[in-house]
Amino acid sequence: MSQPRITFIGAGNMAASLIGGLRAQGVPAERIQASDPGAECRERIAAEHGIATFESNHEAVSGADIVVLSVKPQVMKAVCQDLAGSLPEQALIVSIAAGISCASLENWLGPRALVRCMPNTPSLVRQGVSGLYANPQVSTEQRQQTEQLLSAVGLALWLDEEVLIDAVTAVSGSGPAYFFLMMQAMTSAGEALGLPRETAALLAAHTALGAGRMACESGVAPDELRRRVTSPNGTTEAAIKAFQAGGFEPLVEQAVRAAAQRSAELA
Ligand code: NAD
Repeated sequence: MSQPRITFIGAGNMAASLIGGLRAQGVPAERIQASDPGAECRERIAAEHGIATFESNHEAVSGADIVVLSVKPQVMKAVCQDLAGSLPEQALIVSIAAGISCASLENWLGPRALVRCMPNTPSLVRQGVSGLYANPQVSTEQRQQTEQLLSAVGLALWLDEEVLIDAVTAVSGSGPAYFFLMMQAMTSAGEALGLPRETAALLAAHTALGAGRMACESGVAPDELRRRVTSPNGTTEAAIKAFQAGGFEPLVEQAVRAAAQRSAELA
């Protein structure tokens, strides 16, 4: 597979992690460039990753094979309308903006190859997970190139239908906050049992990390992993019974449905 030339429009947090991930995978700095109106932002990213940066979005997209739209959703329309005439005809557009549909992007940019993707915040520490949807104009090679781009910051999963982006947003896009809430609740509960707050916080966060790694790396389903640590009449069973008596599973479903509905409303 040939190494595409990738331009990032917007050199903020997400672009910086994607660029860092690409560089760590061995993508040469000459194949990556970025534009941003912020001089400080451009200087930082150029110094950190050795890539060329531009103040002008138009200059940055010249000769690009992939253009990553990594600006905030609020400015996406203006950025796209301004760029529409300058984009190389064959360039693939990858949007990482939450709540911006392919229909809106096509409206602003004209009909072309588009990938809409929903990453999540752990991408900033290269432990993200992204759902990706490609419109029919995207070629097999462009799909592989997009996968390489997003897998630089975590796991990348393709979706067959764009509407599933709302479900991805609800499960993994907003999901880190659900686990943070759980950690916060476990920390407070540990403190109430007499642990120093910092100790309880470390116990909760590292337990989440360890459980996540076991779920990802063992090849064993979470319900089986849970059964294995739940002896009859033991401590874990006592806790699980309390969760279930409080309606934990239906509550999680309700919360995830609420996020999906909100995502659909915003798009
Ligand atoms: P950010 O604010 O860190 O970066 C956005 C950058 O865009 C800024 O540096 C800003 O100066 C630049 N910008 C503003 N106007 C511009 C213009 N006209 N042309 C070029 N650049 C311009 O934001 P971020 O957290 O990196 O998020 C970027 C996108 O990623 C958003 O659309 C967001 O929805 C999406 N996203 C982010 C995360 C996350 O974890 N941060 C997760 C999922 C999706």
